[in-house]
Amino acid sequence: MTVYNFCAGPAKLPEAVMNKAQSEFVNWNNTGCSVMELSHRSKEFIAVYDSAIASIKQLLGLSDEYTVLFMHGGGRGQFSAVPLNLLNSGQANYVTTGSWSQAAVEEAKKFGAVTEQNTVEIVGGKKQVISMSDWQVSQDSAYVHYCPNETVDGIEIFEQPSFDVPVVADMSSTIFSREIDSSKFDLIYAGAQKNIGPSGLSLVVVKKELLARSQETVPSVFNYKLTHEKDSMFNTPPTYAIYLAKLVFDWLLENGGVAAQEVLNKKKADLLYQTIDNSSFYSNNIASANRSRMNVPFFLANSELDSTFLAQAENQGLVALKGHRIVGGMRASIYNAMPIEGVKALTEFMQEFERTHG
Ligand SMILES: *Cc1c(COP(=O)(O)O)cnc(C)c1O
Repeated sequence: MTVYNFCAGPAKLPEAVMNKAQSEFVNWNNTGCSVMELSHRSKEFIAVYDSAIASIKQLLGLSDEYTVLFMHGGGRGQFSAVPLNLLNSGQANYVTTGSWSQAAVEEAKKFGAVTEQNTVEIVGGKKQVISMSDWQVSQDSAYVHYCPNETVDGIEIFEQPSFDVPVVADMSSTIFSREIDSSKFDLIYAGAQKNIGPSGLSLVVVKKELLARSQETVPSVFNYKLTHEKDSMFNTPPTYAIYLAKLVFDWLLENGGVAAQEVLNKKKADLLYQTIDNSSFYSNNIASANRSRMNVPFFLANSELDSTFLAQAENQGLVALKGHRIVGGMRASIYNAMPIEGVKALTEFMQEFERTHG
């Protein structure tokens, strides 16, 4: 039976990547060693690292104004690193649209003065994010922070930011899923376990001019300036995670890059949302302009059927569909690695379940 894993994270990785990693697990590139056994300073590993960095620059269309860092501590590590490096004695604006941006602001409050604005409104029973022109961002802010895709809530912001202060975005669950104008961002970060690779690793893309803000008091492993100066090797980087990320980037580039993923991701999301909208048995509570293409929460009209739905889905190889505990219902995470066949299998199952239980 084919298993389709809809987990929000750690999430499914591309099958071709997993097979390649398996085939060279104990003997990489005729070194007689696994990648994870090689020194991070060996020329072999440096080649992997350089390739990963070059691919990220290509996939995101980054100019030379940016540096790309690999850090430890996942997405949440950056909830601390961002204010530690960028805030100093200033203040920052945090825009909240769901549980991850909320967690980010709670962490930032530990380090300095932050103001918070919830930009979600309910229109006709659906959640929607107010236009960026109505976000309150002060001229003297050290930065504005937001989360373009709320993994738990299923809210995505497609509007391009344009503010007078540096823009910081938590792209953990949307990076590489659609084209962005990277020049609109001053710092992008992402935990790896959604669209990049194994958990623990975080990717940070930062404008070099911001590095001057990193004071010596910032803990070294979280210091952007130091990490940049040491090519992400101040301490031992998560080498195997970087290697797997490199394989994912190779796979992306071989398959048409971010533009091609965007077309596919739109198709997958449209199919799932149409199935939900065309039934009175399933519902989703996000306004169409903000519906996430990566994380699709949905509810059954009768929540008493939730456990039956999950059990039957699992029997058919459709796993990890249980919604986040604070949202309830179901959630299908359909990142880059989810083939359209997985979404088709899910929608067919949903229609059949509605026919037999609706
Ligand atoms: C998963 C996620 C995080 C947290 O990542 P960790 O690696 O668990 O720290 C942060 N932000 C967003 C948007 C996420 O989806």
